[in-house]
Amino acid sequence: MILESYWLGVRRFDEFCRQTKLLKPVVSDRLKKLIDNGCFEKVVYQEKPKRFEYRGTEKFIDFFPMALAMLYWERQWSQKPGKLQIILTHKSCGQQTEPFPACKSCKETITPLDVSWKTGPGVGVMEAKYSPRRRQNNKTDSQTNLHDEIIQIIGDRWAMLILRSIFTGINQFQEILKVTAIASNILSNRLSELIDEGILVTKEVPNDSRRIEYKLTKKGMSIYPIILSLLHWGDKWLPSPKGAPLLLTHKLCGNPLQLQMICSECEKEVTPDETSYSIVISHSRK
Ligand SMILES: [Zn+2]
Ligand SMILES: [Zn+2]
Repeated sequence: MILESYWLGVRRFDEFCRQTKLLKPVVSDRLKKLIDNGCFEKVVYQEKPKRFEYRGTEKFIDFFPMALAMLYWERQWSQKPGKLQIILTHKSCGQQTEPFPACKSCKETITPLDVSWKTGPGVGVMEAKYSPRRRQNNKTDSQTNLHDEIIQIIGDRWAMLILRSIFTGINQFQEILKVTAIASNILSNRLSELIDEGILVTKEVPNDSRRIEYKLTKKGMSIYPIILSLLHWGDKWLPSPKGAPLLLTHKLCGNPLQLQMICSECEKEVTPDETSYSIVISHSRK
């Protein structure tokens, strides 16, 4: 929510609190984490009295494709009346744009079915860390959120681990349990939530009707570009000395896969300094 506010132009502490409706200690804690992670800098904007604002570093600005990928997902799957909508203008072509996830080489829209992958030298296993913190299940007022539905999914560590398994073809309960090391009650709970959200469906395993497997719906498949943008971000900012963990190929063109969020009108990459926006509240469309 803080990142989203930043994209909407918020820079100061009080504005973050107002925009996110989060409690001050929470905002303060998260801003501190973003500074510690090298994503934000605290900059003096007024000397007397001394006042600060927060500025995104290059590391943070590199989340822009992910923010656009999230917008793209919300636009496809989470249209409801009263929801906040953003209209983006691509300054370089002067058109209203709906950026979409495309392969940098061939400019085709990215879908997981067109991607082949093998593990790279830097592949590792993520430890399941259990924290005593309880998940917040307070769906906030949707008027303030552009990303409200997707954030419930990708903001949840367990849901992301589950999706990661399923995107790599691991889709039976016991197997997911094994690779994610999630406690089995949490796993069942998250799987049913993902089913309720329309991300997963259950199917009988072919030739073995006693067992079921979890499959992504179209809505679930469309999360792929968001995960991909995170993967690119990680490869750049948290690289393993051994190399990339996953080597992806775009089957349509045969090139190594690089995601680019490109303009729906001119097919050039959409970057933060080439984008302006305005906010509207949608009334119809579903
Ligand atoms: Zn391609
Ligand atoms: Zn354009």
